[in-house]
Amino acid sequence: MNPAAAASHAATRPAQYSDDALWAAVRAEGNRQEAQLELIASENHTSREVIAAMGTVLTNKYAEGYPGKRYYGGCEHVDVVEDIARDRAKQLFGAAHANVQAHSGTQANIAALMALLKPRDKVLAMSLDHGGHLSHGHPKNFSGVFYEFHSYGVERGSERLDMDKVREQALAVRPALIMAGASAYSRLIDFAAFGAIAKEVGAKLLVDQAHIAGLVAGGVHPSPVPHADVVTMTTHKTLRGPRGGLVVCNDENLAKAINSAVFPGGQGGPFMHVIAAKAVALREALDPSFARYAKQVVANANVLAQTLAGRGLRIVSGGTDNHLMLVDVTPMKLTGKDAENLLHAVDLTCNKNLIPYDQNPPVKASGVRLGTAAITSRGLGEDHMRLLGGWIADVLANPTDTSVAARVRREVAELTRAFPIYA
Ligand SMILES: *Cc1c(COP(=O)(O)O)cnc(C)c1O
Repeated sequence: MNPAAAASHAATRPAQYSDDALWAAVRAEGNRQEAQLELIASENHTSREVIAAMGTVLTNKYAEGYPGKRYYGGCEHVDVVEDIARDRAKQLFGAAHANVQAHSGTQANIAALMALLKPRDKVLAMSLDHGGHLSHGHPKNFSGVFYEFHSYGVERGSERLDMDKVREQALAVRPALIMAGASAYSRLIDFAAFGAIAKEVGAKLLVDQAHIAGLVAGGVHPSPVPHADVVTMTTHKTLRGPRGGLVVCNDENLAKAINSAVFPGGQGGPFMHVIAAKAVALREALDPSFARYAKQVVANANVLAQTLAGRGLRIVSGGTDNHLMLVDVTPMKLTGKDAENLLHAVDLTCNKNLIPYDQNPPVKASGVRLGTAAITSRGLGEDHMRLLGGWIADVLANPTDTSVAARVRREVAELTRAFPIYA
């Protein structure tokens, strides 16, 4: 390269890592993750290999289309990447077809709805106030704008789904599609019952296993794949991969409709670097160690819930079968917002959350949602859950006592230092 060309090359491609302000913020976020215990139920700590895959030259590549049928040249290597990711997804979830291109869980749901429905068709899904998701019919979301959503919820006393009630509603609404899956439901979901109801009313069944994908992969939650027409999920929650969506199904015609609904239906070029990271995470999830991880996530949630209940907090539905719990903080005369702030002040990160039949508006809420996926990834076990539950109860029972907060904050710091995420 002649000197002038080299200079202009250097001008357009500055030395690596010269963006000090940006990298300072990235480092600070890394330090935050190390120093806090992450109890947000939808988050996790991925492996270094997942992060490495995202930081590769694959981000440079346009690959609209699917392996072997692309609209751009030079796709011979990214085709291999996408085939590896699809094969692993099929193997992990026992499905005949997989689409790994959806940029997020919401994008996966948009594709599934487009593949399964005509605009304005009726859908029966879980109420957002009882733990459903925005992409299950929120009036401002694509789903609520283009389809007619009806909702089912949990029972007042048990705070659980009653499948007889869901069936009655399905018979009354006669939806074209039933959706199952939630963002804040701590009990096993009976996918076989949903499948039977869908058959009886002539509806399709879409299961959104966003939160529990890793638990299904690890064998600690029954799989929806044998019962659902389509299963969507996120790859970044319990599945512990990069941020993204994934769709699996068994029917070949549906698979074609989903591929076309993802691209060109709702997206342009796939994020090949993210698909590579999904492939890494799927390989990790196929390893026997992942089943042990999933089991530990559930065991930890169970002990944390029991510890909190033993200290006077109310666990919605009386406990948990999965990685999360809703904690009603009204026995402590607090709102969910208060509790979120009090816990954040001692380096415990979580989110306020509506509880079923909540008397408070969503900006305050009466509960917090706690999950164990991330803290289990950094190596915490059941004994730590007893400590953690004690700290949470100490802080929430003594909201104005700064000495309690200072002591808990020190103990959290000690524990996070003993269990680094990226040692
Ligand atoms: C998190 C979640 C999603 C959406 O995920 P995004 O990647 O944030 O779009 C969809 N459905 C359910 C049930 C979820 O919990």
